[in-house]
Amino acid sequence: MKASIVLYTSDLRLHDHPPLRAAVREADEVVPLFVRDPGVEKAGFTAPNRAAFLADCLGDLDAGLRERGGRLVVRAGDPVRVVRELVGATGAGRVHVAAGVSAYARRRAERLRAALDEAGAELVEHEAVITALPPGDVVPGGKDHFAVFTPYSRQWSARHLREPLGAPRRIAVPPDVGSDEVPRRADVAGISPGLAKGGERAGRARLGSWCRDGIGRYEDLHDDLAGDGTSRLSPYLHFGALSAAECVHRARAAGGAGADAFVRQLCWRDFHHQVLAARPAAAHEDYRPRGDRWRTGRTAAREAAAWREGRTGYPVVDAAMRQLAHEGWMHNRGRLLAASFLTKTLYLDWRLGAAHFLGLLVDGDLANNQLNWQWVAGTGTDTRPGRVLNPLTQARTYDPDADYVRRWVPELRGIGGRAAHEPWKRPPEEREGYPEPLVDLAEGRDRFRRAREKG
Ligand code: FAD
Repeated sequence: MKASIVLYTSDLRLHDHPPLRAAVREADEVVPLFVRDPGVEKAGFTAPNRAAFLADCLGDLDAGLRERGGRLVVRAGDPVRVVRELVGATGAGRVHVAAGVSAYARRRAERLRAALDEAGAELVEHEAVITALPPGDVVPGGKDHFAVFTPYSRQWSARHLREPLGAPRRIAVPPDVGSDEVPRRADVAGISPGLAKGGERAGRARLGSWCRDGIGRYEDLHDDLAGDGTSRLSPYLHFGALSAAECVHRARAAGGAGADAFVRQLCWRDFHHQVLAARPAAAHEDYRPRGDRWRTGRTAAREAAAWREGRTGYPVVDAAMRQLAHEGWMHNRGRLLAASFLTKTLYLDWRLGAAHFLGLLVDGDLANNQLNWQWVAGTGTDTRPGRVLNPLTQARTYDPDADYVRRWVPELRGIGGRAAHEPWKRPPEEREGYPEPLVDLAEGRDRFRRAREKG
């Protein structure tokens, strides 16, 4: 075949990329294409931190392709129109794309198929590569998805996982196909100052050092807020700069209890994707409605604002929220605590919190963010929807010396040891303007329980 097109979406890598592999095998020339889609921008998915990380990923992909004799073609506009034009210009017979999980991605594929049919070309939709196993691969008898994690993970773990593919050695791109400039991080405004660097190479380097030095201690350290002992691979996985299947293989090869615990988290990631793929509405609607009448009005709005700003008066919650603002990333234990505080202690709608997270998280995605929020709010797949995390108990367990709190809440640096978890017990001059608690924990918990009993 003369030419094929590879449409990149959320799979920005050269390694373990079945559509790229297939195109390179079958065609003399390949157009590796990324389309900046205003539809995605309009849907609010392009928060500055993700736009910056995306720019890093695209720059790195372009560099990797150039090392192999090719380059990335970047265009802006409706992907269906752009692909059709390129098919016309290059005479490409096939367009390869990895299946998407979201409703938006599926509509895009349908439109593409129809447009290519008309143009006499073929859409080859490869199975989803954003997850380790494609959504829909592991399903209970007679149903379209698993609603509970444990039985899902049992079947998922027993499944054969395809071997990861290497990166192609050479790629020839038709010389007369023009490209817009590859976006640059420097052109994105409003980025969190501590945002990680994106790109396949950075991701692979992190995966390598993680499997060598980090994973062995994961089981012991993954909940230690100050220890920061998790992989921080989530943004690379989100943009597909790393293959989830390859991460599972590499972790299994490393072996040990830490690797098992890490693979279990990757299974959670697949689990949420298969829920969203089967129930796209769960991105915005309660997966399991509990009759909530979330608090609204002026006080509720003021409390939500204090939560967003990291000024609730509960240091561990505030530390987590400030880590999010600074890094565009938050430790999983912090996410659990902050989300429980908003939805249960303050009894505010999970959608408010999920939207704020999506505005900042570099790994923010609909499947993991919305479904984890629903899990915490008790409207999702948690089998104990009534549990309320007490931020003080959690702080003592997961930040025993309050080092995480002092790292992120500078007002409390003058308070030594775990006393920093209860600044309200200290004289005001020791807490430099740090606020009083927004709410009494027992009152908050009881209000939530009463509301759920009524619902
Ligand atoms: P590790 O602990 O090293 O885990 C390895 C990988 O497993 C992660 O990179 C991630 O891909 C996956 N993973 C870990 N925990 C979970 C989980 N609970 N659910 C799904 N996948 C998981 N994760 C996102 O990727 N995007 C989000 O938008 C997101 N929003 C969240 C919102 C809330 C309220 C909560 C409680 C969790 C959210 N998570 C989200 C899950 C989890 O917090 C992050 O994946 C994790 O903190 C990323 O850090 P890590 O890469 O160091 O994780």
